[in-house]
Amino acid sequence: MNPARLPLVAGNWKMFKGQAETRAFCAALRNRVPARSDREVAVFPPFTSLPAAAAALQDSHLAWGAQNMHWEKQGAFTGEVAAGFLVEMGCRYVLVGHSERRALFAETDEACNHKVRAALAAGLRPVLCCGETLEQREAGQTFDVLAAQLGGGLAGLSPAPGLVVAYEPVWAIGTGRTATPAQAGEVHSWLRDRLGQQLGPGGSAVRVLYGGSVKPDNVDRLLAEPDVDGVLVGGASIEFDAFVRIAGFAPPGR
Ligand code: PEP
Repeated sequence: MNPARLPLVAGNWKMFKGQAETRAFCAALRNRVPARSDREVAVFPPFTSLPAAAAALQDSHLAWGAQNMHWEKQGAFTGEVAAGFLVEMGCRYVLVGHSERRALFAETDEACNHKVRAALAAGLRPVLCCGETLEQREAGQTFDVLAAQLGGGLAGLSPAPGLVVAYEPVWAIGTGRTATPAQAGEVHSWLRDRLGQQLGPGGSAVRVLYGGSVKPDNVDRLLAEPDVDGVLVGGASIEFDAFVRIAGFAPPGR
């Protein structure tokens, strides 16, 4: 296994779990999920739950990250959070350009580019999300959309250790409709080539995760695809047993 492509199992909790629930979930996760050399596990709670995650996971093999950030170091940006604040919370990762942020909060590729740069500069590992809608897929535009999102989101960057890309077809997010392993494999292989072309040498070793209705019963087949370096999990990551199973461990009693 290429250590730069160590599989990552990442749980995007979206706007679920306040501090108390986060503390209990993370403490249980720490007990239930032993360290494994062949994968890394991380959770992405809401901002206000990060201190609880940090307290419960401190000095463990589990990582945590945030779901968004602003690219400026500080300033008059009401409601925003800077990368440095996330570092102070012990975050290792930050999601950038999740499709919900693009669709509901008008996040652009240019904004994603600022965020990726600021995250890397602060020592965070950005997970740049990209993916096509159903209409775009059906119109045969999948690779054009991905080329534009990578082109904009990673403009001017060279391969940085810590940079992660997540392919999340919008039609598969929260719908129960997962890309087949073959569909995911085809896109991931294309993304890997594209990252090599765009970022230069080393670009094709960037970790590329798959996200979109990942569940305990489909994760193994998705992870078996050679270009899939892990999974970004939404709905199933907030259910303890499901997330433990996705992370590669049988839930209690099974
Ligand atoms: C996500 O929100 O990143 C996601 C992949 O959601 P779900 O697993 O629920 O489709």
